Amino acid sequence: MSKSLFRVVVFSTKNYDQTGLTEALGSFQDAAPIAFRFLSSRLSPSTAELAKDAEAVCVFVNDTVNREVLKVLHDNGIQLIALRCAGFNNVDLKAASELGITVARVPAYSPNAVGEFVAAQLLTLARKIHKAYNRVRENNFDLQGLVGIEVRGKKAGIVGTGKIGIATAKVLKGLGLELLGFDVYHNQEFIELGGQYLSLDDLLSKSDVVSLHCPLNETTKHLIRGETIAKMKSGAYLINTSRGALLDTQAVLDALYSGHIGALAMDVYEGEGDLFFEDRSGAIVHDPLLAKLQALPNVLVTGHQAFLTDVALRNIYNITIDNLSNFYYQKPLKNKVDPK
Ligand code: NAD
Repeated sequence: MSKSLFRVVVFSTKNYDQTGLTEALGSFQDAAPIAFRFLSSRLSPSTAELAKDAEAVCVFVNDTVNREVLKVLHDNGIQLIALRCAGFNNVDLKAASELGITVARVPAYSPNAVGEFVAAQLLTLARKIHKAYNRVRENNFDLQGLVGIEVRGKKAGIVGTGKIGIATAKVLKGLGLELLGFDVYHNQEFIELGGQYLSLDDLLSKSDVVSLHCPLNETTKHLIRGETIAKMKSGAYLINTSRGALLDTQAVLDALYSGHIGALAMDVYEGEGDLFFEDRSGAIVHDPLLAKLQALPNVLVTGHQAFLTDVALRNIYNITIDNLSNFYYQKPLKNKVDPK
């Protein structure tokens, strides 16, 4: 590549992304001559044409990078997709590879950010902080209905003991929970933390809290569905900060109605693509499933914010600038996503 400007169109941009990426670029030693064009729109078949006159696009979790979009990007000369996130389930890697487009990601920016968030979700539900918060704002200081449960000594089942699973295990261990794990690979660090690997069925039947930290792929889609929910301990809490489609959300709602699932915290949602990351408070949101979940007192919904901390954002921007610069200077791209 020549030493001309490296033009990067950044989709799904918030103000903090614009400031953060610009600051990171300014402070970076040996950065490529990157020229950002910030767009608030999500990348989709109808917006892909906006990536004209650029060499790379920078995208986030709910941007659509399917074959149709990749074809338009390719025809416009895009050579690199730089993800500002770890998960890449929204990218058709096969199509990208066939079109000669490189995909890079930020494999870890702050696993601890998600681990701490899981603890916050768990304690909020266990101590009914979300209900107390609303009550006290109306000067209702009645404690009726606010009896909590203590989590010390309870069993936490961590599904996926990778970077975030381990960070979560550390925080939950600090709260005094026993650690159970399920993963297709066994991680020595989990065992050293005192964690015990079980089959998924055994983990589900023994855990008081099930927290999901595996990626979304063909084998994990609807990992939590009627059949697996039936194996869960009655009254167990379910926490999902990974990807919405790990849950068959209707089946989870049914289990909340029956009381088989005791509480649900979800930071991600199967239907989040058309909802999350925008202020829709003035609109009528047509999502009966989400509305039914939101109506339950033992459900805590957040809008994909588990990652959102000072440390995580700084790391995302620095690693993104590093990925872009390495690609531009044709240096080894250690965060390249392997199409296989
Ligand atoms: P990671 O690759 O370090 O760990 C994933 C683990 O899941 C690995 O140990 C892997 O072996 C395991 N795994 C793969 N298939 C499995 C299966 N079928 N059953 C059980 N385990 C399986 O990834 P990570 O950095 O820990 O991230 C985990 C997920 O968290 C990401 O895929 C992403 O979807 C999600 N995430 C969410 C947020 C948020 O803000 N809510 C932020 C970052 C990441």
